[in-house]
Amino acid sequence: MTPGRPVPPPLGKPLVLSDETADAAPATPSTPAAAQGTPTLAAAYGATSADSGLVPLTVARRAPKEDDVEIEIDFCGLCHSDVHATRGEWGTQNYPLVPGHEIVGRVRSVGSAVDDFALGDVVGVGCLVDSCRECDSCLEGLEQYCERGNVGTYGVKDARNGDSITQGGYSTSVVVDRRFVLRVPEGLDPAAVAPLLCAGITTYSPLRYFDVEEGDVVGVVGLGGLGHMAVKIAKAMGAQVVVFTTSDAKMEAAIELGADDVILSKDPEAMEGANRTIDVIIDTVAAPHDLNPYFRTLRLNGALFQLGLPSTDMPPVSPGALIRRRLSYAGSLIGGIAETQEMLDFCAEHGVVSDVEVVTARQLNEAYDRMVAGDVKYRFVLDTKTLQPASEKADV
Ligand SMILES: [Zn+2]
Ligand SMILES: [Zn+2]
Repeated sequence: MTPGRPVPPPLGKPLVLSDETADAAPATPSTPAAAQGTPTLAAAYGATSADSGLVPLTVARRAPKEDDVEIEIDFCGLCHSDVHATRGEWGTQNYPLVPGHEIVGRVRSVGSAVDDFALGDVVGVGCLVDSCRECDSCLEGLEQYCERGNVGTYGVKDARNGDSITQGGYSTSVVVDRRFVLRVPEGLDPAAVAPLLCAGITTYSPLRYFDVEEGDVVGVVGLGGLGHMAVKIAKAMGAQVVVFTTSDAKMEAAIELGADDVILSKDPEAMEGANRTIDVIIDTVAAPHDLNPYFRTLRLNGALFQLGLPSTDMPPVSPGALIRRRLSYAGSLIGGIAETQEMLDFCAEHGVVSDVEVVTARQLNEAYDRMVAGDVKYRFVLDTKTLQPASEKADV
């Protein structure tokens, strides 16, 4: 392992604005070509307020511009972020809001400048649909860390498209710039691929950054949507995997998923027994929790990556714990487009997909409640064919 190994270079589709597209830089409204096209109405499910729950909506998708790919959505994973966003738990939202950033579908049409995607190709869209394409992060293929703020797949202003609010994948179609469209390798179950686009890349990226390889010991804290992907991906990288859980019930589930060992984190003796045994920890828990017992399980030069974002303060980290073993305490946010493609290809090579429960549109609200209660193994995925037809007038 070599902490800090650089991520792969961007895909063979430079993210630098060409002279031709420079006019479409942020703050510039849609191009005349787009203005001429007619938007398509798509059926969707979304929230109209923080307490509306999810209801049927009709969303207007822009006519594809020259660099756009129009995607007929087949499946969209349900992420915890969707719950937080639609329920307004992360602050003010732009309602109506159609969530969903684990999108898998097929190409329905492409703009005139798109030559890397063809009709019928199976493709994916994750958490990002644009970024500034110019800052150092973007030029390195790290669009998620765009210095001017990335453009999320739902609920944010899209400067290149007239400051319209992006709307996500609980919908029958979406239009996305080709630079942010992923290729789904053949042979993978499309429903089970969907969660790779957020839960998968969120755990893959820190494991790659730490350069996990055969023989390393990876700790995974929490066994939900993210945690189960961390177990599968770390195993596929050749690591030994130790799961930490507070739940007796999840101990067996962790072994079934492929973990080599599982530690009940509320048992101080078990935690003490794991002293200096782990190289890197992927912590997926979003609730505030004390990290110091986990630092004691790390070896010299170990690292703990925190992926969950608690809404309240965490107990303080002891500097002594970090200093005595030269430990790193790090965060990590999804992954760039090139790395997300690399992750999909890696998962195809190793036969890694998410464990999913496919739900219909009418089951979405119940699925949200079950997600909050931790009652899913391990990810819900919406079958978008169950959305009712779009009405004749767009709500969004
Ligand atoms: Zn997500
Ligand atoms: Zn940028």
